Amino acid sequence: MGQLDGKTALVTGATSGIGLAAARRLAAEGAHVFLTGRRQETIDKAVASIGDRATGVRADVASLDDLDRLFSQIKQERGSLDIVFANAGGGEFAALPDITWDHYADTFHTNVGGTLFTVQKALPLLSPGASIIVTSSNIDTKGAASFSIYAATKAALRSLTRSWAAELVTRGIRVNSIAPGPIETPGLSGLAGGPEAAEQLLQGLAAGVPMQRLGSPEEIAETVLFLAGSASSYMTGAEIYVDGGASQI
Ligand code: NAP
Repeated sequence: MGQLDGKTALVTGATSGIGLAAARRLAAEGAHVFLTGRRQETIDKAVASIGDRATGVRADVASLDDLDRLFSQIKQERGSLDIVFANAGGGEFAALPDITWDHYADTFHTNVGGTLFTVQKALPLLSPGASIIVTSSNIDTKGAASFSIYAATKAALRSLTRSWAAELVTRGIRVNSIAPGPIETPGLSGLAGGPEAAEQLLQGLAAGVPMQRLGSPEEIAETVLFLAGSASSYMTGAEIYVDGGASQI
């Protein structure tokens, strides 16, 4: 018996890194997982690595049409949803003088708009007792040189988590967020200009963590599972920091 037998989950941004690890973990506990990304080839690979319990849907969270198509397919194939892990997102470095309108708008559209409309459009399908989990970042409580727009999007998600929890509590729907520290994913390495710069970036980030290491996507996936299931039944509006102590000590 898996902890999530018979449940249906959606994981956005699940072809790589944290989302892929979470999709695997939820499926291993018995959930049927709809997973998304923007590239069909990587979606197919992710689905193949999970098996029968995964359905891949190409959908950009920054496109309302894509989201409508995604939820219409989930409705048709499963009828309802029990778990939403709104995880798709990312950012790029830009110091204040270098921030362009496109940098600002793209980052907010994907990280904030994409999460907002994923959650909004999931609402009609959510079963009582459903769990919504948002990926924020431990950067949401601190200043971050050259990463201010990204940090601001994650601070917005922290705020939205609280407000949505307040709105949905009467429906028995819980909303929580996870704030990862530096997690070893293609997304994190991709912030650097090339392999050598990536190595330096990762080493520097690990050195800034009290545990002196990066986290793994699987460590975040365990927290997703905790928030998805009944083990966290008395939690809503909360944020869990999974960052080797970086934001706390
Ligand atoms: P990753 O390895 O780059 O994976 C990102 C995933 O999201 C990929 O599947 C990507 O696939 C998908 N994606 C990106 N933009 C999308 C969009 N507009 N619509 C749908 N899918 C999209 O990144 P990660 O490090 O696992 O990051 C996952 C989440 O954790 C992000 O929200 C990130 O901000 C957050 N986070 C990461 C860290 C870290 O250190 N890694 C720390 C704190 C928070 P396609 O590119 O094919 O669409």
